Amino acid sequence: MGFFPTSKQEDIDTSPHVSDEVKTTTCYMCACRCGIKVHLRGDQIRYIEGNPDHPVNKGVLCAKGSAGIMQHNSPARLQKPLLRTGERGSGEFKEIEWDEALELAEDWLGKTRAKDPSKLAFFTGRDQSQSLTGWWAAKFGTRNFAAHGGFCSVNMAAAGLYSAGGSFWEFGEPDWDLTKYLLMFGVAEDHDSNPIKIGLGKLKGRKGTKFVSVNPVRTGYSGIADEWIGIRPGTDGLFVFSLIHELLKAEKIDWHYLSRYTNAPWLVIQDPGAADDGLFVRDAEDNPLCYDADKKILISTNNPDTTPSLAGKYTLPDGRKAVPAFHLMAERYLDTQYSPDAVADQIGYSADNIRRIAAEIAHVAFEEQIELDVAWTDWAGRKQDKMIGRPVSMHAMRGISAHSNGFHTCRAIHVLQMLLGSIDVPGGFRHKPPFPRPCPPGPKPAGHDSIANTPLPGMPLGFPTGPEDLLVEPDGTPKRIDKAYSWEYPLSSHGMMHMVIHNAWKGDPYPIDVLFMYMANMSWNSSMNVQGTIKYLTDKNDDGSYKIPKIIYSDAYNSEMVAYADLILPDTTYLERWDAISLLDRPICSAHGPADSIRQPVIKPDRDVRAFQEVLLDLGARLGLPGMANEDGSPTYPGGYADYITNHERTPGVGPLAGWRGKEGDQNGKGDPNPDQLQRYIDNGCFWSEEFTPEQSYYKFANRSYLDRSQEMGWIPKAERIVMHIYSEHMQKFRLAAQGHGKNQPPDVLRGRIEETFDPLPIWYMPLEEKAYDGNEYPLHAITQRPMHMYHSWGSQNAWLRQITAQNRLFINEVTAQKQGISDDDWIWVISPHGKVKTQVKLMSGVNPHTIWTWNAIGKRKGAWGLDDKAPESNKGFLLNHIISELLPPREDGYRYSNSDPVTGQAAWYDLRVRIEKCDALEEGLTEPMLGAVAALPNAPEQIAVLRYGADFSEPKKLPPQTTKVGDKAQTSLPANNKLLGEKP
Ligand code: SF4
Repeated sequence: MGFFPTSKQEDIDTSPHVSDEVKTTTCYMCACRCGIKVHLRGDQIRYIEGNPDHPVNKGVLCAKGSAGIMQHNSPARLQKPLLRTGERGSGEFKEIEWDEALELAEDWLGKTRAKDPSKLAFFTGRDQSQSLTGWWAAKFGTRNFAAHGGFCSVNMAAAGLYSAGGSFWEFGEPDWDLTKYLLMFGVAEDHDSNPIKIGLGKLKGRKGTKFVSVNPVRTGYSGIADEWIGIRPGTDGLFVFSLIHELLKAEKIDWHYLSRYTNAPWLVIQDPGAADDGLFVRDAEDNPLCYDADKKILISTNNPDTTPSLAGKYTLPDGRKAVPAFHLMAERYLDTQYSPDAVADQIGYSADNIRRIAAEIAHVAFEEQIELDVAWTDWAGRKQDKMIGRPVSMHAMRGISAHSNGFHTCRAIHVLQMLLGSIDVPGGFRHKPPFPRPCPPGPKPAGHDSIANTPLPGMPLGFPTGPEDLLVEPDGTPKRIDKAYSWEYPLSSHGMMHMVIHNAWKGDPYPIDVLFMYMANMSWNSSMNVQGTIKYLTDKNDDGSYKIPKIIYSDAYNSEMVAYADLILPDTTYLERWDAISLLDRPICSAHGPADSIRQPVIKPDRDVRAFQEVLLDLGARLGLPGMANEDGSPTYPGGYADYITNHERTPGVGPLAGWRGKEGDQNGKGDPNPDQLQRYIDNGCFWSEEFTPEQSYYKFANRSYLDRSQEMGWIPKAERIVMHIYSEHMQKFRLAAQGHGKNQPPDVLRGRIEETFDPLPIWYMPLEEKAYDGNEYPLHAITQRPMHMYHSWGSQNAWLRQITAQNRLFINEVTAQKQGISDDDWIWVISPHGKVKTQVKLMSGVNPHTIWTWNAIGKRKGAWGLDDKAPESNKGFLLNHIISELLPPREDGYRYSNSDPVTGQAAWYDLRVRIEKCDALEEGLTEPMLGAVAALPNAPEQIAVLRYGADFSEPKKLPPQTTKVGDKAQTSLPANNKLLGEKP
């Protein structure tokens, strides 16, 4: 949609006096957390610019960041606590005071805690305070906690943390200064937005580099790639295996790196049918063993004085056989089923091209090796005079993650990196602190017991290392409401938010009393099966009570979810509150060193709203939760969230912020709380950062100086080397359980699924939905991409960003469309096994011919987000989630698994299969399904049709205002009390 100035050339004052004051803080228009400077005049936010001193963005600001002004002035901002008065979904509420709201929440939550804390399901969305919310859940005593990672990225996180000691996502980055070849998988505009743009700028500004993007859709980063590989969705794993096949065949692998830093030489017992089959050979002290090729003996892999063998078959003293993990891996991937010729058709990329990419990677890694003259000492005290680099880097995100085979595909990418010796070396992929950590990092998930008025012994989310760590009843029934950490999804380290509402409605594995959610738009774009989810939220028992008895929801905006809650706790915008972007959570570190940051309130709320974090601490104190209430019942943090950020210690000396700790503010990482800490952050532009020394900068998994520092900072428990896992013994333990070994075994019906998917080496299998349905009936893949100018659902309330996109189209390859007689602007039905949705078409060439796609979450429900009834978002824009099922087709006994990765529980929303059909002429013009409009909230801001923001900035010249238009019609709305000029419709 366009942007149309409607006035003639204007006499614009290009340097108006914009602000009287400038405050620094941290952007929250996406997950990147760039530093910003907010210009203020009176009680108005006038202008936002990037902070040039900030380590994340170095002054770069994207369209979203500068449009934060309109997010702050959004017509969708909630105004006051709300109590439901009509039926759920009607949107009928009355305003109440905070005292009443908090007393109600305390009553509902207190009764639940006194009975059975696990009857509270506490799930948050894209917030950035999970170290607080997870801690709160643990103190409440509920195991039923998670954020939205199970919907978003857990395949990336888990695959990395179980194999490479860190993950892509936002916890690592290519060595932008030195890399020569970047292979990017499934990345549109992800969690690392501005840093990737800055990095790509550096990479493309250097001669002799190449950027290859593997993505079914050529938008965003793929649009500037030197080579675009328009792969068929869900086949990336096969592509990676074929690269590995070629590298192994050519022996273009880093033998030294594999031997020294991975578990490639560890001996794996080959004893089919026995309880130890596939486990590592260990000595009496539990050290894994390898075979020393020089000494010709079995020796501990922790002995640095070894020359480990990577291949061969060995007989153990007791007669058992064993082979190095690498040997198993090479046998598997050298099989011709992974040859380029075998996979080319399936992935949609020619065998010759696969061979060429493999050769290019090998050439750059081994013929263009980097040597930095930086001396360093390894974990065993061996001095190295150089840092050797393999300048091939990789990055991956949702295109890999959101498939039901995504965990194994991401592991395959990490194995490819290990074979090349390109993890945390000059020119390769670099960990950001606090990573690397041991594989997996621990701790294990807490929540085996749910005891009245009793906290959990640990945090609800963690990393199982074997069947004994699952949260299941003796008969194998899941203990968590989302079924995370059950035999169905054993390594679901981010929980399974997408199944909470379905399971709570069904009472499977049990009903709950209270659903408490924050920033989670579950009745729209954060759920699969939108209409089903709405039914689950509104369905009643025979006695007229709701199946999900109580729903408390906190958000700053009138999202689609608001209408389905009983009690609304209105949050502030990101410019009105304190926040800690903490190393305990999702920090802003770079590969160059640790960093964290804060948000400070740059402006006071003009509504009766409170920051959710303040409310959570208040509720914690009211409920008497340990750590939040003192023995006399008074709050531990009477100063609210700022008090908590300053004074809370998770472990002695470790708090939410790492900078300026200690009474004098002279310690970093660990130290006593510093009462002046927040001011020190503000004085420094709201961030703290440190740089590693050159000798700490690479090979961190084995680097003595780095490991010591990592332990000092509290990132790892012991300063011991971190060994990367090409072969996962943890996975094999689950597999052995499925084969009938050990005390903890899966129910019979799940044995086959576990045995197949818990392969200790990465595997590829067809995405589960694709396997389940007839490919002739549903021949196309359907996926979404996140636009650069919006962050999921957040942008469609934003007057400026809506001018860029107010209606999402369905993009189709022009050849595919031509075959079906579909032209640009046609209206079509997109039909999946689950339902159908109507949309308008845009043709393009840069998309895989078997794939259709759209921008994510532009389509909105009528009445939500403060949008006018005629808004393009709710009349022409559409939501693909309507036709994605949260369940797979029934297995033989009728049970339906979640539509998720069977290892991690990651929602598989990119597995969607569809067909398309042209609409009848009479059906054109409006999207379907179009759900009824949500009623306006009490005292909702008035709608404004034409926005004249900034017209009053140039008062002396009395310039004519500039008129802008959104979508087909001008229809922006703003709060009645805002200071921006606007016209009512
Ligand atoms: S990339 Fe994200 S955090 Fe950075 S300026 Fe843009 S919206 Fe803000």
